[in-house]
Amino acid sequence: MDLNKLTIKEARQKLQAKEISSLDLVKDCIKRIEKTDSKVHSFLNTNFEQARDAAKEVDKKIKKGEHVKSLEGIPCGIKDLILTKGIVTTASSKMLQNYKPLFDATVIKKLKENGAIILGKQNCDAWGHGSSTENSDYGPSHNPWDLERVPGGSSGGSAASVAADQVIYSLGTDTGGSIRHPASLCGVVGLKPTYGRVSRFGAIAMGSSLDQIGPITKTVEDAAEVMNVISGLDKMDGTTVPKPVPDYTKNLQQGIKGLRIGVPKEAFVEGLDPEVKQLIQIAIKDMEKQGAKIEEVSLQTLPYGLACYYIIMPSEVSSNLGRYDGIRYGYQDKDANNLFEIYTKSRAKGFGAEAKRRIMIGTYVLSAGYYDAYYKKAMRVRTLIKQEFDSVFNKVDLLLMPTSPRPAFKIGENINDPLTMYLEDIYTVTINLAGVPAISVPCGYINNLPVGIQLIGKQFDEETIFRAAYAYEQANGWNKIKPKL
Ligand code: GLN
Repeated sequence: MDLNKLTIKEARQKLQAKEISSLDLVKDCIKRIEKTDSKVHSFLNTNFEQARDAAKEVDKKIKKGEHVKSLEGIPCGIKDLILTKGIVTTASSKMLQNYKPLFDATVIKKLKENGAIILGKQNCDAWGHGSSTENSDYGPSHNPWDLERVPGGSSGGSAASVAADQVIYSLGTDTGGSIRHPASLCGVVGLKPTYGRVSRFGAIAMGSSLDQIGPITKTVEDAAEVMNVISGLDKMDGTTVPKPVPDYTKNLQQGIKGLRIGVPKEAFVEGLDPEVKQLIQIAIKDMEKQGAKIEEVSLQTLPYGLACYYIIMPSEVSSNLGRYDGIRYGYQDKDANNLFEIYTKSRAKGFGAEAKRRIMIGTYVLSAGYYDAYYKKAMRVRTLIKQEFDSVFNKVDLLLMPTSPRPAFKIGENINDPLTMYLEDIYTVTINLAGVPAISVPCGYINNLPVGIQLIGKQFDEETIFRAAYAYEQANGWNKIKPKL
């Protein structure tokens, strides 16, 4: 049996029952990575030796009859935007080519305390900027469903890796859709938690008021398992909240009978691929059949989300990327003759085109004379978005939308057209502006390319999202179909 195909839950059960060893599980994943990663290009750095050693330690514990923790002995991959002590972390940018973090991000610390095994660091758009992984300075990742197509982004390497059964699960980051979008394009499950649910400490900052770390998994239940481990208050991140973390797996089987699911009419407009629309409508019917109450709702601010996001996000990007000055860490240009040139030459050569575009837009909209017209206005729109979400959630328990407007596109198709690329995020960015949680789960295929449906919940109500997504997944089983690689 290829153990790399297991889910978290299956792997744990087999480990506990001593049917398999962690070392065999790790070895099968490594074998799969070695066989497929020349095609998928998910990994930028691997950690195989330490992974095998860690697995042996877990096996010793299991042999002694010690308790097996929920992620113990189970291999995962980590987006290269999350700091891992001693393992090179590049943000997929040349700027951090040789950067070895001195500490673990809080989520990594938590995974390790839970016995998780890290197989390596996964490719993404540099700094998280993008929807295709084509902005990686190390070359794009490829969609396992069609290697000529993008896996989505920015956590494309992580989603492709889970879809290709290279790892049992991955961690990604989501500032405007970077977990959900690639999950949708690769046919796997991706959750962006509520802002403040998961610590951002040690995530390389993109837009600090939008960023969240979350799981990319093969099943909804596995996403709940990972959330149980990574969620919660962290004194290293002042935006985490002292709310108790529920057991997210507990209510999965409650079904969706009686749940009120709102479908915003503004989501079904021009630009949405008609075949994607059809799949979403079939999914809606299915949930209705299972007893959910489907209601059309209006989210008038939805059409403004993208414009608002592409003002606020670059503002925060321009500020967050200011620290890469060629002095403290990261790339330093050796031809610089003075301090000013150290800054300018290091930044000119260390950053790629997309980071520069965002730094310039951000600096422009924050500058005196333009601040009120752009940044301040966008912040006001953001408040309206937040208020509208609050008010619609007085009427419904969940919202339902597509995750992306179309299935995976060809590598190179949009790379010279940033505006078309930004439109990929039309259904995801507003969720980050509102700070609410959302999941993408597979809902079918168009010409053998996966499509995802997005379920959005109230703040800190990941439980209801999981419950509905689980019911849908169990009834349809789209996630059982695998790419032929
Ligand atoms: N695709 C979006 C962007 O380019 C979202 C990125 C993200 O969530 N990190 O900004």
